[in-house]
Amino acid sequence: MTVTVENNSDEKKSLNFVEQLVEEDIAEGKNGKRIQTRFPPEPNGYLHIGHAKAICMDFGIAEKYKGVCNLRFDDTNPSKENNEYVENILNDISWLGFKWGNIYYASDYFEKLWQFAVWMIRQGNAYVDEQTAEQIAEQKGTPTTPGTPSPYRNRPMEESLALFNKMNTTDAVEGSMVLRAKLDMANPNMHFRDPIMYRIIHTPHHRTGTKWNCYPMYDFAHGQSDYFEGVTHSICTLEFVPHRPLYDKFIDFLKDMDGTAGNLNDNRPRQIEFNRLNLTYTVMSKRKLHTLVDEQLVSGWDDPRMPTLCGMRRRGYSPESIRRFIDSIGYTKFDALNDVALLEAAVRDDLNKIACRVSAVLNPVKLVITNYPDGLTEEMEAVNNPEKEADGTHRITFSKHLWIERDDFMEDAPKKFFRMTPEKEVRLKNAYIVKCTGCTKDAAGNIIEIQAEYDPDSKSGMDGANRKVKGTLHWVSADHYKRAEIREYDRLFSVENPSADERDFHDLLNPDSLHVNRECYVENYAADKKAGEYLQFQRIGYFMADLDSTAEHPVFNKTVGLKDTWAKQNK
Ligand code: ATP
Ligand code: MG
Repeated sequence: MTVTVENNSDEKKSLNFVEQLVEEDIAEGKNGKRIQTRFPPEPNGYLHIGHAKAICMDFGIAEKYKGVCNLRFDDTNPSKENNEYVENILNDISWLGFKWGNIYYASDYFEKLWQFAVWMIRQGNAYVDEQTAEQIAEQKGTPTTPGTPSPYRNRPMEESLALFNKMNTTDAVEGSMVLRAKLDMANPNMHFRDPIMYRIIHTPHHRTGTKWNCYPMYDFAHGQSDYFEGVTHSICTLEFVPHRPLYDKFIDFLKDMDGTAGNLNDNRPRQIEFNRLNLTYTVMSKRKLHTLVDEQLVSGWDDPRMPTLCGMRRRGYSPESIRRFIDSIGYTKFDALNDVALLEAAVRDDLNKIACRVSAVLNPVKLVITNYPDGLTEEMEAVNNPEKEADGTHRITFSKHLWIERDDFMEDAPKKFFRMTPEKEVRLKNAYIVKCTGCTKDAAGNIIEIQAEYDPDSKSGMDGANRKVKGTLHWVSADHYKRAEIREYDRLFSVENPSADERDFHDLLNPDSLHVNRECYVENYAADKKAGEYLQFQRIGYFMADLDSTAEHPVFNKTVGLKDTWAKQNK
């Protein structure tokens, strides 16, 4: 018989394939067994949950193998980047719970990269091409037919050097020239067909201002930056698999330049790729997220329907739940589409452990306890979190006039209806057992008030209070409450995989993804809660005060329901 030790589950878990590769490298003594990773966002948008997957990997590997993970802003395209994005990226990573070693910028290496490019030209390994982008594209060939060499490919090295210098002046016209590596126009790997190293951009850079007029391309900046920093494992997503040989090739050139070419195991970053996170009913492409924001199809990057980390934070997702979700889906070598319901389940799981239970009535109807003394109030003890005793209790005021959910009453109820109906008893949570005696209707037949009598000996916590009643209802005192606005969200897109859909993505948006309810009544204790505090509206779901919430006008976002009702509706 085998005995398993329950609380050591982290230790027992098998390694993911990246961890296996890292452990092999350590066993071989590569890079002096040093582990250094980086998370390399381009500051051209906000982080989304896909980035969180990369963050968990990059920081996770460093943490697990006692290395370091640095943050590096891949800021090589000034036309799309700015400091607002930098600030928010820092904030989101901290919120997720990770700590970086250093903060670097690819722009820190512009001078070094320039010198490297000059060296490449001098070696005869790079040239300035004065053709248009279209001409260059036409000559690329296909994976099965070789490309056509540029007429500038064999121009004298001095000419390329002079033009490269010119590319970095304000006189250079954007698009008029590029610097290309002279590699192999027939290589089956298209990235080897004289890849572009530099292009002219005149937009001022968010850090280097107008110092540069020409900027390195991703392939000529990323691996090199890894090398300069001493990264040992450069972990990225699968679309970079075909870039890897070029990544390695440029590192070879760099090692040639600095004279460490023979040292294959020393300071040589290794690129490893894993599958991107794709989630159902949303998009992860920054371009599309930009469109949603720019066209005001959402309220901003932090709209609670967005897959961004700031959107999820605002909605009430906890960082722990996002990390747990990412851990549960794992890392593979093939792309897939993950069900957003799994993320919501992880959110529910975590919030159950941490959320403070409060009372809120979303669709109120008046309940009068006819035998309760006029003017009397009682302060009832309400447990903040039955899962966590240390969270203590708070007080909720009970009185003769209460609000309950309209759905919790039925005049002619079927047998299995264990909520309020004439002649039956229910418990009012944290208060008394009451028996419904009737209801009052308006001329149109709508119920406007329900009446009940309470049993003074049934107060929660008292001896004899434990008489069995089947239903327990939440309530709010109609003399002690605040009116609140509730924002409920549905899927942002109405199709499961909007990224794979050929229709215009505007047509795929769910027109009904936001419901606003301004007639919700919450207990005063809940109305004081701030953004960042996790709440459970009892029997309804998890909620969080919105950033717009004020004492006069409380606003709550519905984070997620208590159960996955959405799955059922769509069966
Ligand atoms: P886009 O292509 O939409 O502009 P990006 O992937 O280029 O976004 P970056 O800021 O360059 O955005 O990404 C930083 C890191 O996050 C990269 O290593 C990238 O591979 C990773 N990443 C981005 N999106 C995802 C995703 N959906 N799943 C996992 N990792 C991702
Ligand atoms: Mg990118």
